[in-house]
Amino acid sequence: MSSSKEPKKVLIVGAGPTGLTSALELARRGIVPKLIDAKECIAPTSRATGLSVKSLELLEASGVTPRLVATGIKVNHARIMQEKGKGITLDFNELAHKYNFLLCLPQNHTEIIMQKRFEELGGNVEYDTRLVSLTQKKDGTVEAVMEKNGKRLTETFNAVIGADGVNSTVREQMGIKFKEKIYPGKWSAAEFDSKDWPHKQDEIQYFIGKGGKFAVVMPLGGNRYRAVANTDDAMSCIFGKHSVDKLHFNAAFDVSVRHVKTYRKGNIFLAGDAAHTYAPAGVQGGMNLGIRDACSLARRIAENDTKTYTRERKADGAATIRDSNLAVRVAGYSNVFMKAARNMTVGAAMRIKTLRQKVIKKSLGSG
Ligand SMILES: Cc1cc2nc3c(=O)[nH]c(=O)nc-3n(C[C@H](O)[C@H](O)[C@H](O)COP(=O)(O)OP(=O)(O)OC[C@H]3O[C@@H](n4cnc5c(N)ncnc54)[C@H](O)[C@@H]3O)c2cc1C
Repeated sequence: MSSSKEPKKVLIVGAGPTGLTSALELARRGIVPKLIDAKECIAPTSRATGLSVKSLELLEASGVTPRLVATGIKVNHARIMQEKGKGITLDFNELAHKYNFLLCLPQNHTEIIMQKRFEELGGNVEYDTRLVSLTQKKDGTVEAVMEKNGKRLTETFNAVIGADGVNSTVREQMGIKFKEKIYPGKWSAAEFDSKDWPHKQDEIQYFIGKGGKFAVVMPLGGNRYRAVANTDDAMSCIFGKHSVDKLHFNAAFDVSVRHVKTYRKGNIFLAGDAAHTYAPAGVQGGMNLGIRDACSLARRIAENDTKTYTRERKADGAATIRDSNLAVRVAGYSNVFMKAARNMTVGAAMRIKTLRQKVIKKSLGSG
């Protein structure tokens, strides 16, 4: 890395939430990076819809958080329901924090807000620009070959951030391989309109079904809802009377758990889905972990403090993946004894305030 007196040239590959957060965090420190993305524009799909308390705290410094909060839906409760038996409600407002809610906002809206702020800070997302290859030079700089409108261009940088998602070219250029473990069975995500949705608008619902099936439903605004389930048909996991006026999609996908061994080689770094993937489990999901990677990396690049980047991010990544795997396992218990143990624990959490506070903190991704 160059000495702190020299101006740093940073390339960020990928303008998803991780790349945009890295760009914002560098730009607010006076380093306006080159941010490229192979796609034409922000993808119009919702994907990650829950922003954690930690993400909202981290995005305050760049001025993004107030805009996210003003645009998203504040979810104040979680309702956990079983097909047979009473449901219980968790009140997020019990958390002593200014962000004592889950902020629901489709990922494309989050990206639009981040991109606008990056432009205000003097940056610009260069779309239709694909990274082709990277070469580490002896002097520590990195030569990047990019392609735009069929033309190749070569530029040299002090640091490169690979925020280019699950099929990362940067990771491939670093020669780093993903170890992959695929969850058995398919998962699915659906979006639908329901005019008579029988639950509160400021509530997220967990439908714990028979045989270990479960679905989570989040409000997207108006009559629109998003469901994610651990089966190949999210809609079939939602029980109780309700109409579906329009089904926008209901698609199955594989969930695989992957985590790189190292996030850094020389002055090339990985962040976000390029470094890890796992179940899309709400605030413990990939977008929020990517935002944490990005904030740490941008600060470290700006302050020439990148040595312990891998150690720090690998620990957070491993803990988050562990929590996500545990949440998926517990929600999907089909064994009667395990189900009884889970239900007793949830029941105790409802009665014991300190336990309940812990569950709320985990649910909102606080701390
Ligand atoms: C259905 C679904 C539901 C989800 N729900 C949640 C949720 O509730 N909570 C949560 O936290 N997460 C969720 N996720 C995961 C979340 O969407 C991802 O973790 C997040 O998008 C990762 O962000 P990223 O910026 O690291 O990567 P991406 O968003 O994948 O961005 C990578 C970018 O890099 C670009 N790129 C790739 N290769 C190149 C190249 N060679 N040159 C230039 N650009 C390149 C791509 O065009 C892309 O724009 C969900 C995902 C899905 C699919």
